[in-house]
Amino acid sequence: MEQNHYHVLGVASDADAAQIKAAYKHQLFEHHPDKAGSAGDDAIPKIQQAYQVLSRPEQRRRYDERLVQQMKHRGVVSDGDGLDVVDLDSFSVLEDEMVWVRSCPRCRNKEGMVLAEEDLENNASHQHSDSASRDNDNDNEYSIAVQCSSCSLWVQVRYFDSM
Ligand SMILES: [Zn+2]
Repeated sequence: MEQNHYHVLGVASDADAAQIKAAYKHQLFEHHPDKAGSAGDDAIPKIQQAYQVLSRPEQRRRYDERLVQQMKHRGVVSDGDGLDVVDLDSFSVLEDEMVWVRSCPRCRNKEGMVLAEEDLENNASHQHSDSASRDNDNDNEYSIAVQCSSCSLWVQVRYFDSM
């Protein structure tokens, strides 16, 4: 399993700048040749690369977007470690706009989590055609990753579709 930048630094997906910096120093120390006993520890470039991206807000934002896309396409299930699972039932529907909104379990922003009907449908049809890779027996159960717009927490949303 490929490690993402958050795994490499050992921080949560919503870690702040100070936490990321501290984790970076810690990982560099852990993998320092003096400590690791080898000059060729290939973890160092990965740690530096991870820090370069995550320490720059604009790069981090783009990286997060890409991660979320990857997770959507994988159906999250294979890489869902650390993500809380919530049911779509816990969202409220804004009828006019065809979106689901939910308060964020962490920062409590009332509309932190937003899912568009279109996202749900696209995700479901993708997972439907790729059902061999899914690890549940219910043909109508899907999951999608959604990120809080204020604190960047990710959750995995479980829902059912009667396609
Ligand atoms: Zn939040």
